Amino acid sequence: MDNRTTTDKIIVHCTATPEGREVTGREIDCWHRKAGYSGIGYHYVVHLDGRVEKGRDERRIGAHTVGQNHCSVGVCYVGGCDAAMKPKDTRTAAQKVALIKLLKELKQRYPAAVIYGHRDFARKACPSFDAKEEYKEL
Ligand SMILES: [Zn+2]
Repeated sequence: MDNRTTTDKIIVHCTATPEGREVTGREIDCWHRKAGYSGIGYHYVVHLDGRVEKGRDERRIGAHTVGQNHCSVGVCYVGGCDAAMKPKDTRTAAQKVALIKLLKELKQRYPAAVIYGHRDFARKACPSFDAKEEYKEL
């Protein structure tokens, strides 16, 4: 895995799992290996209780957004679907706080980076809310 030379985007994702169901970084790592990636594609995972877990080393090129991996950091919160697997903003209060803190830290490290949601680059609902709009002031 190579390191990025540019970081001009921070891209927010969800795990697309039902509201209230926890998912470990290890599970995501397993999913992504099965999908043919060299391990977890996100750099950070934000758990239901607000705990932030490191995924792929932040310096490395991720595997989360087609066409943008070479220039972005990928952040994923656990959730994003309702019980019927329809897209839903399921962020807990703790996840909302943790996401803001994490995104602010990333913006300090990459001042030129703009925050987006996966859906800004793909025909997907991910991350089930308008991250670009919500985080434009960070
Ligand atoms: Zn995504």
